[in-house]
This record gives sequence, structure tokens and C-alpha cells, in this order.
Amino acid sequence: MELQIRKAMKRYFGYEAYKPGQEAVIKSILQARDTLGVMPTGGGKSLCYQLPALLLPGLTLVISPLIALMKDQVDALNDQGVAASFINSSLEPDEVRYRLYQASRGRCKLLYVAPERLASEHFNSLLDKIPISLVAIDEAHCISQWGHDFRPSYLGIGSWIGSMQKRPIVAAFTATATPKVREDIIRLLALKDPQVFVNSFDRPNLRWMLMKGIDRERFINRYLREHPDQPGIIYAATRKEVDSLFAELSVRSFKVGKYHAGMNSEERNHNQELFIHDEIQVIVATNAFGLGIDKSNVRFVIHNNMPRHLEAYYQEAGRAGRDGQAADCILLYHAGDIHIQKYLIENGTLSRERKVVEHMKLKSMIDYCHTPGCLRAYILSYFGERDFKSECGNCGNCNDYIVRDITIEAQKIFSCVYRMRQRYGSSMVASVLKGSQQKRIYQLGFHELSTYGIMSNLATEDIIEMINLLAAEEYLTITAGKYPIVKLTSKAAPVLRGEKRVIAKFPQPPESVSKESTIFQALRSLRKTIARQHGIPPYVVFPDSTLREMCERLPLNREDMLRITGVGEIRFERYGSQFLELIQKYVADPESIEKEKSLVRRLLPKDVTDKKKKSNIAGEQPSYLITWMQFQEGMSLEEISQEREMRPSTVQEHLLRAVREGYEVDWDRLINRHQEEQVLRTARELGTSGLKPIKKALPAEIDYFTIRMVMEKNGIRPS
Ligand code: ADP
Ligand code: ZN
Repeated sequence: MELQIRKAMKRYFGYEAYKPGQEAVIKSILQARDTLGVMPTGGGKSLCYQLPALLLPGLTLVISPLIALMKDQVDALNDQGVAASFINSSLEPDEVRYRLYQASRGRCKLLYVAPERLASEHFNSLLDKIPISLVAIDEAHCISQWGHDFRPSYLGIGSWIGSMQKRPIVAAFTATATPKVREDIIRLLALKDPQVFVNSFDRPNLRWMLMKGIDRERFINRYLREHPDQPGIIYAATRKEVDSLFAELSVRSFKVGKYHAGMNSEERNHNQELFIHDEIQVIVATNAFGLGIDKSNVRFVIHNNMPRHLEAYYQEAGRAGRDGQAADCILLYHAGDIHIQKYLIENGTLSRERKVVEHMKLKSMIDYCHTPGCLRAYILSYFGERDFKSECGNCGNCNDYIVRDITIEAQKIFSCVYRMRQRYGSSMVASVLKGSQQKRIYQLGFHELSTYGIMSNLATEDIIEMINLLAAEEYLTITAGKYPIVKLTSKAAPVLRGEKRVIAKFPQPPESVSKESTIFQALRSLRKTIARQHGIPPYVVFPDSTLREMCERLPLNREDMLRITGVGEIRFERYGSQFLELIQKYVADPESIEKEKSLVRRLLPKDVTDKKKKSNIAGEQPSYLITWMQFQEGMSLEEISQEREMRPSTVQEHLLRAVREGYEVDWDRLINRHQEEQVLRTARELGTSGLKPIKKALPAEIDYFTIRMVMEKNGIRPS
């Protein structure tokens, strides 16, 4: 058995070893025990039912809440050589029947369905004839009111299983750890004598950071500049905030998209696809985004606002680094976020009881923003873990930070707020402290206050940041509403009297990750080209972790390549040789890769870069530029013409146009030296008044395209 499991794991998934907790769950299922697996996001839950599905006879039915996720998972499985399929409302009845027929003939091992489907009589009658060995319930916490995405349709699963003629093995999976949710799952699914496996929620590769009171836009701008090419998600609390952040970042030419429930579904899906396929770097979104996204190479998740509770925060931030590689989770906390969340709770449709629970959860979230201790430890203890280090060494409160005594600044601010009678907002207070010449300040007589201009050495934005920090630390409150007002709290009085000092911790802003190595960039770009050709997300070709292992071990032959985690036989057959070739080329001559890789960026004339980026924002890339980019990324003219279903002559025209506009190309891939010499010699002899005579004088295999390219390369314009 053991050997069989490992063989299948390597062959289909390319894994040599289990991730923590997987082995126990898989074995429990294979011993025909009902099983509940609780694992953090990225812990590798899917393998826990996909592998048994391959080893058990008959069909495995996977119940999953999200249509989008189903399609991705099924695509990925098919790509690995596993026969899987899904059924959802987007399919025609005939297609549904056909898929079930395939399953009944054993031509499909995993079938994904949404829970609503189980209520369909028609579906059940078709399913009747299929031997089902395993029912796997993904995101099982959806069954519990105590979870964060309760779905009534999950409540029907238990009785549905009960009504089956032959009871299958039932396995449930969730990333929600709280004991209440766990109990609900076991009870409501009616699991029989289940084995329960709860894995640690720790995700050591995630670096938790908290930035208080800072200028969020400034921070995000800088972060994106310092992390080019790294996919990331920015969550904001409201649609309006998403829109404005998106606009701000687009103007600065970042490759961003946005996502919120106010957009139509077509737009949303489009942006989601662009993000999944690494066509845009960053997505700015409300919490409507992300359910069912299993993009594994998200390198950072920034929360522009504090979420309502840690469950939501952990789930959203946890979308970073699923591939196990280092990733940042950064929360930009402002005291004002509390008002938004309180408002949302109070004005939501929850029952009185649930509102109380939500307020308690919000309190824990706020406490997270104030804990002086290890952020990871706080999270783990919230989720009921007991066994963890009190200092993780990889969070904002464990890593380097600067401690500064800001008592004097605080006193100046408090006293100014007091003198302005606690009636104005932070920017007005800051303007007075700065000594601004605004008319309004004179009208109100604030230029006569003793605090006027006493912080003139700082920029107004920095004073505002300081006010926000003091609010985050609860020396000040900022009222809710359209015109928030800054007021003092009881904590400010002893500071003003000189009895207490204000010590602030400034986490070091996360330093930019070291520059990606050349070979990694080259592998990543090859991955993207392949993904485009196959119409699948890049991380499905190989996850970042696999590319990194390739960089470290530089495999030069099939055997070595197959030893890389994530390279299974099926995928090796499909793409392996291209990656091998690239690595071989790199090992033989590292510079050759450097040249190829930097070509696109280095050779783009500057104004063209800007133009290109601008057209990107509008969502439209001129067709000829797409051709040019594909060519630069290594696709041949034939491949481009096939992939985009364009005539070869059109592709040639595109490339010519790009060249004429100043986009550089790798000439050696278009014309060879010998031909070039021939064309130039002939042109010199016959003059360049017309192409026809030149063409006639040359051997037949030299076509017009080559002639025109040679001329472009040498700056000759036919007169
Ligand atoms: P979850 O559903 O628990 O969030 P996934 O099943 O999506 O997690 O797996 C997370 C990542 O871990 C994926 O990129 C997957 O390819 C990878 N993975 C899963 N099992 C293993 C394993 N045994 N070895 C290496 N990588 C694995
Ligand atoms: Zn820590």
C-alpha cells in the first residue's frame, strides 16, 4: 500500500514527501474511516482526497462551494493526467448526462459538484448507478453558523449521504479551526466515528506586519515600487476605497486590476483571470475577491483596512504564499477602521445574538492591532493552539523595529487639539501645528494659538501620520461620520501633565526582497509563455516553489528533473524538456539568458514603455504589440500565428510595424547573417527604389519579409 501511495503521489503530483498532516488523513481515508481534516490554507488539503480518489475503486464525489474553484481544480487535475470533471449550472443537461455517463464507465475518478446539486432528483437518479467510494466535502465549515461563510445548502449534505444505498467513506476538510465549527461539521454531516486531524495553523513562510496610522497610499506606492513583478492582493473595506486606490495606482502605471461586487460579473471574471494568469501584478479588491482562488504564487496581501475579525483576516491574508515560499501579510491599521466595522455589524442583517458575537470578534481583531507581543503567537493562540514559540522571529513585533520616545510630539498634538476645542479633524489640527497660511486658519483665529507652527519642522502628512498613530494607540479618538473630529481620551491627560511618556514602536517597513535571480526570471517567463499556449494559469504549469528548486539544483537531465518537487511524469512529458533546455542553456552560458531576459525591458524606448502601460490600463493592448511581446517571450512566428489564429503574413506585418515604431527585436531569430549579407549586397547593387527587383535578384527562399527586416535592421528605407 505504502509504495502504491507514494508512486501515485510522484507520478501524478510530482511530490516526494507529504506535507505535515497529509499522511495521517490519507491513510485514514484509505482505511475506510470517516475523516475530518483541519488544515490551514495552503496546507495541502486537496491532495488528501485527490490521492485516495486515485487509489480507491469507483468514483470520488467532491462537494465544493464554488464554481470558479471547481473549474480550476479540474483543469489542474487534467493537466496532471488525472481524469476529473465537474458539474454545475453552467452546463447543458446533455453535457451533464454525458459527464455522468463517463463517470459510470470509470472514465472519471473525481467529480466536483456544488452542494445545491444534491437536491436535484434528476441528478440523483443518474448518480444512482455509479459506485461512489468517497464523498469529500471541501470548505466544510460552510455548514456551520459559527463559521464565516455559512451556506444553507451544506445542511442538506448529511441527509443526502444518509439516503445513499451504500454509504461511502465521508471525508470533510476545512481551514477553520475553532472547536465550535468542528463540532458542527461532525454533527451535521453525521460523520461516523470519525478520525479528526487538526494541524497547526502556523504558516512559517508568512511574515506578519502591522503598520499603524501611516499614510496608506504612500506606503502601498512604495511597496509596489520595491516589489516589481510580484503578484499581490490589496484588500480595501469598501467599493469606493477600491475604486480610488485602483485609480491612484493605475495613474502610476502599476499593472493593477480591481474587483468588487459593484462591477458586473464579466468585468470581475476578466480581472480575476488576468490576475491568475500573471497578466496583471496586483488586484485591488473588497473581500468579495478570493474565495475559490487558489493561485499559489501570491507574494503579498496588504490590507488597506482592518477586517472585521481574525478569521476573515487569517483567511484573506492566508492567500499569500500557498506555495510555501516567503510572503508578506501587511495590515495598515487606522483607528477609523473600527467605526466602519462597527457600522457594518450594527447595520447588517444579523440577529441580536450574532451581533454580540461579532462585536466580541471585532474586539480581538482590534487587540491584534495593539499587542506588543509576537503577532504570530497572537493569531495562533486565538485559534486555540497551545504549542508555539512566544517569539517567532518573522513578524513585525519580533523583527527589527525602532522604538522612539514621542512624548514631546504627543504633548504638542494633544495641547493643540485641546486648544482647538476638540472640534476639528486631523488635517486641520496638522495644518495649525505646521503653521499653515490657509485663509480658514486666520478666519478662525488659530494663528494666535500658542501651538500654531510648533511642528513646522515636519511635513503636514507626517504630522497627520503621528495623529493617526496616537489614535491607533488610543490617546486620541477620531469620531465616525463624514467629518471625523479628533478628540482626546483619558489616556492623554497624564501625558499632558508630564506623568507618562509615549513610547512608539515603528516596525521597519519590509525591505524589498532580494532581486530575483536571472535564471528564476527566465524560468518564470518560460512558464508564462507555456501557460498562455495552453490557456492555463502559470502556477498550474509549475508553482513558484518548483521553479525555485530548479534554480537551486539546476537539473540537467530527465532523472534530475523528476526529482524536483512538483515535477511529475505527466507534466514532465508535457513541459519538462523546455525547462530542461533553458537550464542547460543557462548552465552552459549564464550570460545568454541574461541577454534574452533583459531584452524586453532594456530595449523598450522609454516613451514607448509609457504608452504601452497606459494602453494596459484601458485594458486594451494593440494587437501588433501583443504579437511583438509574444515574439520577445520566445514564441516563433508560426506559434503566434497558430495560437492567435492569424495569417502568417499578419504576424509578419505586426512585427514590422513594431520594429518601425522603435520596439527592438532579437534580429538573430528573424534573419541569418548570410541572408543579410546577400540582401545588403543586392540592395547596394540595384538601389532601393523598389523591393521587387531586389527580390527577383535573390534566391527564392529569401522572402519579402526577410528583405524588409534586413532593411529595417540596417536603417534603410526603400525610397
Ligand atoms: P489548501 O487547499 O489546503 O489550501 P492546496 O491543496 O491548494 O492547499 O495545496 C497548497 C499548495 O501545496 C499547492 O501549491 C500544492 O501544489 C502544494 N502541495 C500539496 N501537497 C504537497 C506535497 N505533498 N508536497 C509539495 N507540495 C504540495
Ligand atoms: Zn513574531
